[in-house]
Amino acid sequence: MNQLADRLSRISEPQTIKMAKLGRELKAQGIDIVDLSIGEPDFDTPAHIREAAKKAIDEGFTHYTPVAGYADVRQAVVHKLKRDNGLDYTPEQIVVSTGAKQCLANAVLSIVNPGDEVIIPTPYWVTYSEQVSLCQGEVVFVPCSIENNYKITPEQLEAAITPKTKLFMFSSPCNPTGSVYSKKELEGLAAVFAKHPEIFIISDEIYEYINYEGKHESIAQFGDLINRTIIINGLSKGFAMTGWRLGYLAAPLDIAKACDKIQSQFTSATCSITQRAAITALTGELTTAVEMVAEFKKRRAYIHEALKTIPGLKVNDPEGAFYMFPDVSAFFNKSFEDSYIKNADDLCMYLLHKAHVSTVTGSAFQQPNCIRLSYATSMDKLEKGVERMKTWLGKLA
Ligand code: PMP
Repeated sequence: MNQLADRLSRISEPQTIKMAKLGRELKAQGIDIVDLSIGEPDFDTPAHIREAAKKAIDEGFTHYTPVAGYADVRQAVVHKLKRDNGLDYTPEQIVVSTGAKQCLANAVLSIVNPGDEVIIPTPYWVTYSEQVSLCQGEVVFVPCSIENNYKITPEQLEAAITPKTKLFMFSSPCNPTGSVYSKKELEGLAAVFAKHPEIFIISDEIYEYINYEGKHESIAQFGDLINRTIIINGLSKGFAMTGWRLGYLAAPLDIAKACDKIQSQFTSATCSITQRAAITALTGELTTAVEMVAEFKKRRAYIHEALKTIPGLKVNDPEGAFYMFPDVSAFFNKSFEDSYIKNADDLCMYLLHKAHVSTVTGSAFQQPNCIRLSYATSMDKLEKGVERMKTWLGKLA
């Protein structure tokens, strides 16, 4: 008898986490795996932030905090949003959580009723649709093409809206494609939202600082969209703090209050020590983040060119984050010895077991012709990974 709740059948474990697990298992068997599946910076958390955490422990910041975060952490988020994005918020509009993932869950749980339609341009970060499904919302995928660098156009957005549309969710810079929406592109989307004042927007800006081309723009800057946008951000990517678990959202007051209420019944606040360190991260110099991004930029330049030299790969042009998302469909229906490649899932497994390179299948992101490669790893490993891919992809005929 299946004793588990029905909602379990509506969601699955992220492929990203599955691939990381598989890679670890092979490594434990002594196999030299080049891990390009991982979605986190390979840098240490900056020293001044680590020091702030050590001080917090010694000063006794080791107790429960307000659910939405200490007042001065929320104030630090307000400061950051003004400094970096020119946006005005009050601390009551900020909710600090256990990572951006929990912020997304709080926001989706606060907004989506069963049957509500949620538009998600694809490829997209796996978690969005799963959280919507948990709330029994209806996901409306809008496929975006490599020709438009995997970004939704105003025309596509308009065509996807129905009277049931409640929410639009996207990330810029985007995981998995690395695409960044320009000011002009966001203005185009904002013009569509202006005609549909009932639709909320979740704008996931967790990769804000990892932008190689220009200044980050938030959709909340345009028209009156600040009144119905929930900005999601956090420390994981920009400050190399994935394990510390701190994300934050900025939202219209009623939504922020709803998120606080939901969080109060799930996790309460995130770690007190992490919150003290977050104040230093959010109000301090961004020098180490800038240095990290400069390193990512070098790696991006390398891997972008190197992948283009592999026959059969159709390479996209990412302006942010630390992922490449090449189209691998030229390898479908090809084989080598006992390996037959039907789709991107098979290709990922072939690369893992034969080339010993770990990647993530595009089907995890609703783009079954692609695979995702993370370049948040050392240049040596990138070179080794690309060489191995070239060799093993070259054998498929
Ligand atoms: N949004 C996107 C687009 C992400 O890629 C990730 C992490 N992979 C998150 C949110 C979650 O980040 P956090 O570690 O803060 O929960």
